[in-house]
Amino acid sequence: MKWIDFEAKSAEEILAWAVPKFGSRLGLASSFGMEDMVLIDMISKMNAPVTVFTLDTGRLHEETYATMEKARSRYGIEIKSYFPKSADVETLVSTKGFYSFRESIENRKECCAIRKMEPLSRALSELDAWMTGLRREQSVTRTDIPKAGPDLNNLHLVKLNPLADWTEDQVKAYIEKHEVPVNPLHQRNFPSIGCAPCTRAIEPGEDIRSGRWWWENPEHKECGLHRPK
Ligand code: SF4
Repeated sequence: MKWIDFEAKSAEEILAWAVPKFGSRLGLASSFGMEDMVLIDMISKMNAPVTVFTLDTGRLHEETYATMEKARSRYGIEIKSYFPKSADVETLVSTKGFYSFRESIENRKECCAIRKMEPLSRALSELDAWMTGLRREQSVTRTDIPKAGPDLNNLHLVKLNPLADWTEDQVKAYIEKHEVPVNPLHQRNFPSIGCAPCTRAIEPGEDIRSGRWWWENPEHKECGLHRPK
């Protein structure tokens, strides 16, 4: 099958292809937003041995930890947490303070590199394929993400975005139908879940990702996790 053929496949069909092929070498990168919870629900219903992992930056919302705990108990899954290297965080905050990411895009990327990118590379080193809950309508930086293909930053890996063509309404409809637990921040107008100091609630009609790094321009609003280098 060619990668382009995956575009016509549903999320469940993509999982049905990937799970037997990769087993526990398939990872789900989860920040415990509603899209990730949909994927966790799907793989749990398949009894799939997918590795669910998260990047614990040390700056997450309390509600996100509560959602992780809910996912653990509801689905009986293990959540692999990857932390940043303590020496790097100690140097960062000792030399630049606790909010250096607000001072410039470079500083923000430095913080994301230490707290997210390095732990992600360790997580991916244990996998053959990974998937995310990214959707094309989430932002201008995501309009062309494929449903499946090589990870352009790690060419030995396959990257899957089974919900790439889902709308927000589809995600909410799945959650309601399957009674999927969701991060309570969504009810407080946080459509996108990230680190607490870099995420805020949005106003009605605002872009979904406008609450992330709201002091930056939209084209800069990726932490690097999903952007080709
Ligand atoms: S989102 Fe903010 S706090 Fe989290 S790693 Fe990036 S810059 Fe640092």
